[in-house]
Amino acid sequence: MPTQERSVRNSVCLNHPDRPAAQRCTVCFKPLCAECGRPDAVGNVFCSDACASNFERTRGSVDAWDAARRRERSRRRRRRLVMLVILVVVAAAAYRYATRHPDRVKELRQKAGEAVDAVEGAAGVRGR
Ligand SMILES: [Zn+2]
Ligand SMILES: [Zn+2]
Repeated sequence: MPTQERSVRNSVCLNHPDRPAAQRCTVCFKPLCAECGRPDAVGNVFCSDACASNFERTRGSVDAWDAARRRERSRRRRRRLVMLVILVVVAAAAYRYATRHPDRVKELRQKAGEAVDAVEGAAGVRGR
């Protein structure tokens, strides 16, 4: 990894001042020679057990946070789907109602118009 090489070019190992650093601790960024770093299976390097366990702990909480977020997201998606279904059902019902009772819909529309007129009148929109 070129960036990592560059970042340790002028450093020496924390435990061996006579050796150039070859890597850095993933957790505390201490420079380490090739011998001192403790690599894990996925390419992280640790200077000590403390840093290694610290990293494991952090990753564990990040995983838990990730899982919680995923759960929350799928719950929200499900809720949105339910809302959509309700909306479609209501719209279908309204459409069916409107096609079966055109007179009643006309009456409703007229009432709505009157209500808007009343609100506008109360708000003084009319006088403009
Ligand atoms: Zn460390
Ligand atoms: Zn060393």
